[in-house]
Amino acid sequence: RVVLEQVTKAFQNQSVVKGLDLVIPDGSFTVLVGPSGCGKSTTLRMIAGLETVTDGKIMIGDQTVNQLPPGKRDIAMVFQNYALYPTMNVYDNIAYGLRNRGISKKECQVLVEEIAEIVGLTDYLKRKPSQLSGGQRQRVALARAMVKKPKVFLMDEPLSNLDAKLRNQMRVELTSLHKQLGSTFIYVTHDQVEAMTMGDQIVVMNDGHIMQVAAPMNLYQEPENLFVAQFIGSPP
Ligand code: ATP
Ligand code: MG
Repeated sequence: RVVLEQVTKAFQNQSVVKGLDLVIPDGSFTVLVGPSGCGKSTTLRMIAGLETVTDGKIMIGDQTVNQLPPGKRDIAMVFQNYALYPTMNVYDNIAYGLRNRGISKKECQVLVEEIAEIVGLTDYLKRKPSQLSGGQRQRVALARAMVKKPKVFLMDEPLSNLDAKLRNQMRVELTSLHKQLGSTFIYVTHDQVEAMTMGDQIVVMNDGHIMQVAAPMNLYQEPENLFVAQFIGSPP
């Protein structure tokens, strides 16, 4: 599990994440949701180790990771602009997630093919990214992260540059992927519909604070404050 204790981030003495306390259970699909600028990406980047923690503590498993570089944390991150290598084919793009692992070519092949099967890219391994649809490229980016089999997956608005139809399809695929892998997903979005349909634990943030943590139904039926009610669109 991932635990945040009084986690704070300040940029130039201005706090943007303000004392977050949060427990993310193993195997959960936790969604951080809230308006633009509320601190979602900053929080995710601190968990990933891409941003230092100004104050407080982040734990992954039993280990405090504040001082650990991203490469030493058992995590993988998928970004909004899932940069693929344009000159490499799909196979090599996925295998890139395994660089520096010191494994044989054969072992690498087994892992890449297994993941390609899961994300439905088996028939596309020889193609270049430019020969793929947006949704297929997105799946390559996911596969590249998944091939490392991390315990924790961090995703920052990974579907935001897809059209509505693909986005819906990918939501379903990500949900079933989560079930298959059994790993912990921490997913950032500003879209409350996406949050409510995908997450099993929703963390509503506003202005650097957590407003409520709950399962989707509880959030909808028992919002703890006006902000949550309005953001989620609960009946009055
Ligand atoms: P969005 O939904 O628009 O992506 P967000 O919730 O992910 O928003 P963050 O990117 O975490 O928001 O930013 C939170 C606040 O921190 C914003 O006010 C932003 O301007 C500020 N911020 C983020 N990164 C930096 C930085 N490197 N230097 C200064 N301020 C920053
Ligand atoms: Mg963001």
